[in-house]
Amino acid sequence: MSRLKKIETDKDSSGVKKPRKGRKEMINVTGMRDILPQDQKYWQAVSKVAEKVADDYGYGRIETPILEYTEVFARGIGKQTDIVEKEMYAFEDSGGDNLAMRPEGTAAIIRSYIQHGMINQIQPVKLFYAGPMFRHDKPQSGRYRQFYQFGYEAIGEPNPALDAQLILMGWNCLNELGLESVVQVNSIGCPTCREEFKKALVKYYKPKTKQLCESCQRRLIKNPLRLLDCKEEGCQKFKDGAPQILDYLDEECKKHFMKVLEYLDELDLPYVLNSQIVRGLDYYTRTIFEYWSNDDSEGKSAMGGGGRYDGLAEILGGRENTPGVGFSMGMDRIVSKLREKEINVTETYQPEIFVAQLGESAKKKTFVVYEKLRKKGFKVAQAFYKDNLKTQLELANKLKVKFTLILGQKEVGEGTILVRDMEGGIQEVVDFNKIENDIAKRLDKWHQQKLEKFTAPEEGDMPEVRPKGEKRAKDLEDFNDEADSNFEGAYGGGDAMFSGDNEDY
Ligand code: AMP
Repeated sequence: MSRLKKIETDKDSSGVKKPRKGRKEMINVTGMRDILPQDQKYWQAVSKVAEKVADDYGYGRIETPILEYTEVFARGIGKQTDIVEKEMYAFEDSGGDNLAMRPEGTAAIIRSYIQHGMINQIQPVKLFYAGPMFRHDKPQSGRYRQFYQFGYEAIGEPNPALDAQLILMGWNCLNELGLESVVQVNSIGCPTCREEFKKALVKYYKPKTKQLCESCQRRLIKNPLRLLDCKEEGCQKFKDGAPQILDYLDEECKKHFMKVLEYLDELDLPYVLNSQIVRGLDYYTRTIFEYWSNDDSEGKSAMGGGGRYDGLAEILGGRENTPGVGFSMGMDRIVSKLREKEINVTETYQPEIFVAQLGESAKKKTFVVYEKLRKKGFKVAQAFYKDNLKTQLELANKLKVKFTLILGQKEVGEGTILVRDMEGGIQEVVDFNKIENDIAKRLDKWHQQKLEKFTAPEEGDMPEVRPKGEKRAKDLEDFNDEADSNFEGAYGGGDAMFSGDNEDY
């Protein structure tokens, strides 16, 4: 298939310019995408929360390679799962090794746990990971072929308290991002009780074979548990009458599950017992769970999921009875929910000061000022490649900085620098050698004022009930509108207070 896309139009439907008719441009692989600078703030917000939760609960970061021997996933996830059967990017490399791009994190982490003898460390070994995963899935909304997950695994401890704490950790991740979710919880028992359940499922579904979708007809033979997971309308109607796994749990599995639920009750976590979630990976035992957005009643785009996998280490060549429990979160889905809900996340690059210059000697000096401020930790921007002062001030305004420091030939001669408040348009002359202290004080004052503005409603005002992010977004919008009009006012009439030799201004 060609990797070149023929461009049909000069503009797309939203009016965005495209390369001219007939031109061919390279495009990305289907189901994969670029995450552009303007989107990074969402991804970084998610990463930050994921890392914070890992720190809070004592999970250390692990990185496993993107490529593993195919066997790690085939054996770990299960040869008859959709992931291994249809979705894995698996190939033979030039040296004849069968390799696969990781479709998920857990199997490779268990491989690493065994390989590095982590069983000799204090158990459970608590690990955190984040990175791209690859599945040759049908591309559709919320489903990519390269997608990103972060996750946590606790290996070596069978206690149900750990299941409950991990469930809480995932909920906390979403909650800290401002997303409301409901945890769907189930138990699929151990391989022994599951066998009985599978038989009961086959018995129930077999007479309905002809009414099932094609995938379910295959599942009936190869992986009957997944019959419960089908999202096709024609198959949904049979779910309610299907046997329930909870009726097939043996005493130990039942006890384990009851304990998990007791802890969840104690934590007051919003969860739903859902006997129809089964998860798509074979390694799960006992507790399984998914995180559904509170506006997604069918789990069509679950934000994450996981469970216990007490047999996985043994399958991968580790010691018998090595327990484990964990979950992963889909970053792509979380980011799209943050956008959909218009949750405000902090800009990753939000400078507060801009350093502007006019004339060659001023430019040289501002290089030094910029470096000094940057090293001291100020959030500072510049455009030394621009000579025109107006252009620089326009850029400073677009970047929404609070102060612009302006240096021209005159200021260089006098040993001063101008501090322009971009909000009010007022400029003050400051001693060049005192600029760091001066600007630090001004910024402190501004931060304090912003804090008061956000936290103190006027007396008698009924505070509007809005999500936290929305409130911030609205206030910032007002603030920026104000700053825009002030800037226009100060420069629109050409009466800038700048007094340097503004040759190209
Ligand atoms: P899984 O590894 O299948 O248990 O999936 C865990 C989470 O990863 C899901 O709840 C999704 O949020 C996310 N995820 C799984 N597959 C994809 C995909 N193809 N595209 C985007 N996100 C995915």
